[in-house]
Amino acid sequence: MSRRIMTIYGTRPEAIKVAPVIRGLEAHPDLESVTVVTGQHREMLDQVNEIFGITPDHDLDVFAHGQTLNGLMAKVFDRLDPVLVAERPDAVVVQGDTSTVAAASIAAFYRQIPVVHVEAGLRSGDIHSPFPEEANRKLTSQTTALHLAPTPTSRANLEREAVDPAGIAVTGNTVIDALLHTVGQDVPLTDPRLQAVEDADRPVLLVTTHRRENWGGAMEGVGRALARVAKTYPEHVLVLPAHRNPIVREAVLPALEGLENVVVTEPLAYGEFTRVMARASIVLTDSGGVQEEAPSLGKPVLVMRENTERPEAVDAGTVRLIGTGEDRIVEEMSRLLDDPAAYAAMANAVNPYGDGRAAERSVAAIAEMFGLGERLPDFGS
Ligand code: UDP
Repeated sequence: MSRRIMTIYGTRPEAIKVAPVIRGLEAHPDLESVTVVTGQHREMLDQVNEIFGITPDHDLDVFAHGQTLNGLMAKVFDRLDPVLVAERPDAVVVQGDTSTVAAASIAAFYRQIPVVHVEAGLRSGDIHSPFPEEANRKLTSQTTALHLAPTPTSRANLEREAVDPAGIAVTGNTVIDALLHTVGQDVPLTDPRLQAVEDADRPVLLVTTHRRENWGGAMEGVGRALARVAKTYPEHVLVLPAHRNPIVREAVLPALEGLENVVVTEPLAYGEFTRVMARASIVLTDSGGVQEEAPSLGKPVLVMRENTERPEAVDAGTVRLIGTGEDRIVEEMSRLLDDPAAYAAMANAVNPYGDGRAAERSVAAIAEMFGLGERLPDFGS
């Protein structure tokens, strides 16, 4: 009898990171894959599903402009429950730390369906940062039956919180599976300005920013810092794929208007984004996923946050936490651009987050829950 595994996800980063797992579930002879999107992000989510060839079986369509976190959670509970009842999955898979994940895992738990948490055990140690993700991770750990920790550090975090070690498997992060699958595929650049940058072989500084706790004054400072960097280094091109959220755009973009060497784009399709990242000389970001991807491409990464739940690449020397202060951002970018030794010290390709086999380990651990075969050895063991 095949087991029905329901994967529930709602945002772009979740889609990128669950896509390799969904592919693996589909390929397993004794597992049946059912997919549910909440639609917490809309266009950015659809874009990723399209790239990985996934057509969701259910779409809860919860997105609304300006919706509160509580409004979003309430909608997910309300619309997911009938799907759980109708589909009767044997397990529910969630990924990461969004409000979709927290709501879906509690909803599954209330229906007594075992929860599998992909990317379990990340902790910044500050419940307010990232907000609300740190709380979402901890809430999800409470209802999870199988914790798929990406690294030995995340396993140790869970064990420190008294999670039963037998319920944890270390898989590597599935984002590296997605990255290795995608990078190097010669996807066309749909924005002609990006193609022109490549044709002219201009060095690229890639920037992404969206974190909720940086909204407002901090993000305005980021915009001013970017403008100062662009003016000081006119031979470089600063590429900023702008997040869809209007709050982010209104804070960052005004300072950048009219600068020849700043290219602000719509969110890039994953293949295009990884193509630009692979060419970039420095990555400046507050993103979780980008912090994991860029080190494996050997890019120095400056992270605009005060703390991180991803210490592995900081320890390896390719990621530096710099906060969101305007002067500090300019100073750290200048240091890398002016000092070849400082640049070389950070530009090491390291893969602390995965080896491209995370989905395989995840699917093996899910199958083992049902007595279908053995787990694979832990990543990094
Ligand atoms: N990404 C993308 N297009 C973009 C910007 C980012 O495909 O224009 C990808 C990126 O490669 C990474 C993920 O989106 O895999 C990160 O998403 P985001 O920064 O929104 O979320 P976080 O990782 O911080 O949760």
